[in-house]
Amino acid sequence: MRRPIVAGNWKMHGSRGENARLIEDILGGYPANAGADCVVCPPSVYLQEVGRMLRDSPIALGAQDTCADAHGAFTGEVSAGMLKDVGCKYVLVGHSERRLIYRESDQLVARKFAAAHAKALIPVLCVGEQLSDREASRTEEVVGRQLDVVLELCGPEVLGQGVVAYEPVWAIGTGRTASPQQAQDVHAFIRARIASRDARIAAGTRILYGGSVKAGNAAELFGMPDVDGGLIGGASLKADEFLAILSAA
Ligand code: PEP
Repeated sequence: MRRPIVAGNWKMHGSRGENARLIEDILGGYPANAGADCVVCPPSVYLQEVGRMLRDSPIALGAQDTCADAHGAFTGEVSAGMLKDVGCKYVLVGHSERRLIYRESDQLVARKFAAAHAKALIPVLCVGEQLSDREASRTEEVVGRQLDVVLELCGPEVLGQGVVAYEPVWAIGTGRTASPQQAQDVHAFIRARIASRDARIAAGTRILYGGSVKAGNAAELFGMPDVDGGLIGGASLKADEFLAILSAA
């Protein structure tokens, strides 16, 4: 049985005051018997402070990115060991904004996944096609390639200790959500791709959906057999929406 995850990606939003209010509101309304794991990923500069607010709470701390290297002359970067040191449990790797705006390659994303795993973080590998890929029926080709590079470098055992998030780029921050069936089709494809290496690991790997998930569409999406929760952007900044999504999971 795969326990769902609901992870909030705050992106580059928030301030010390706003973060404190958001965490207070989420913890204030947090369900006593949540049936899903919950994670929040604040900007790195706030990780330690948000981590302190989450101490002894059921919510885990996640980072939005990591450096692929362990230490050294990498100005501006933050290593997986540092994220672990300040209390992170999860880290996103390969978010489409990193792939597209900062030109991160599949190979760099795979190295980040390996670096996070090596420091006992749970990497959340984000994969997903652009609208032009979908329109050209290249969704499986793109998602398969993004997945294969990590499978090659790390192997299925390590991939399965992480999490995969399917995030169609055309659905991120656009208000345009994949239909439950569109999400299910790609999630089933991802699981089958992992199963071609190791069926047992594929059956246990958690695959999240991300892309304009809201309180109003979460239950339908999470009701699909291969959708194991969600990676939530905009709606994770509103406590009531985020809690409703958590309840749906
Ligand atoms: C995201 O940034 O990972 C995301 C899914 O954003 P949104 O929910 O706002 O589409």
